[in-house]
Amino acid sequence: MKRVYNFSAGPSCLPEDVLRACADEMLDYQQTGQSVMEMSHRSKAYKAIIEDAEAMVRKLLDVPDTYSVLFLQGGASTQFAMVPLNLGIRHKKAAYINTGIWAGKAIQEARKYVAVDVVASSEDKAFTYIPHVEKIAGDYDYAYICLNNTIKGTHYEYIPDAGAIPLVADISSCVLSEPLDIRAFGLVFAGAQKNLGPAGVTLVIVRNDLLTETPREETPTMLSYKTHADEGSLYNTPPCYAIYVLGKVLHWIDANGGATGMKKRNQEKAQLLYDYLDASGVYHATVAPGSRSLMNIPFLTKETDPAKADELNKVFVAEAATAGLINLAGHRTVGGMRASLYNAMPIEGVRALIAFWEEFAKKYVV
Ligand SMILES: *Cc1c(COP(=O)(O)O)cnc(C)c1O
Repeated sequence: MKRVYNFSAGPSCLPEDVLRACADEMLDYQQTGQSVMEMSHRSKAYKAIIEDAEAMVRKLLDVPDTYSVLFLQGGASTQFAMVPLNLGIRHKKAAYINTGIWAGKAIQEARKYVAVDVVASSEDKAFTYIPHVEKIAGDYDYAYICLNNTIKGTHYEYIPDAGAIPLVADISSCVLSEPLDIRAFGLVFAGAQKNLGPAGVTLVIVRNDLLTETPREETPTMLSYKTHADEGSLYNTPPCYAIYVLGKVLHWIDANGGATGMKKRNQEKAQLLYDYLDASGVYHATVAPGSRSLMNIPFLTKETDPAKADELNKVFVAEAATAGLINLAGHRTVGGMRASLYNAMPIEGVRALIAFWEEFAKKYVV
């Protein structure tokens, strides 16, 4: 068996130990004589699985009792609607910081339900940096940020101060990559397929006082946070198997030092790549220090002719894949290359990428 190094932005690599454990339990989960995939979500065995997953989220992110932990479906993208539907109810007005495509999609969706003020944006420099916002104030129901911008490779190095306004964050591509103070937020959400497990489950952590008001009248039952909070994410059939794998990933994170351990690993990995890129005469990172993501690292060659650069990028991505380094193409909307280094990417993968950079430079760039 030969495994590749998968640099995809999502779905992405999972810890091999987790995959093996899932394989071992595939036909017979803990002497129940069945796979978790076949199990009733109301069974005792499954109840233990989902309760353990929640307990691990609470442990690793130090989630206070005043918050609910929800396992939902519809991906992070469904949260773009659920947030305004559930939280945008008093003033029907929200503040957003626009840092790229995912924040932009959230803004677009929110505009269907609430008045949106874009209080800061990095669009002037093609979203290659994080704007600094001292304070968000006004009659807003909530303020919204995308903490790690998967496509452009930017990351907040501070948490904006929204005062009493509930702060909402899309943490899809950085959840548990480092410690995060949940108390600074009213709500955070993350699609699992980047740092938590397979696609199909979305983690939502929401402060309970935000669930006391009735969502907007037209809100579908399934899109009300309260529906799921009241039933421990078992209002209807949850994405059972995805939650089971997510639980295993959380145990793997726990065994590897928790959020602090992940940060250390991730800093080490990202530093290797950024240091190499910053010193290189052939490649460069597209994000300046101060806004750089530990998780998603876009890079380009220094070829200045756009047509030649494009061609070179294509050859790079194709030859890297042949060498077992897959999914290094940038997002389809921005092009270029991007290496995503989620928690499960081993440092050996990063070393292999650097070795490939060297080899490719010798062959094509002189
Ligand atoms: C991937 C991603 C999304 C979209 O997630 P889906 O689960 O595919 O809807 C949203 N926000 C961020 C920051 C992402 O990285």
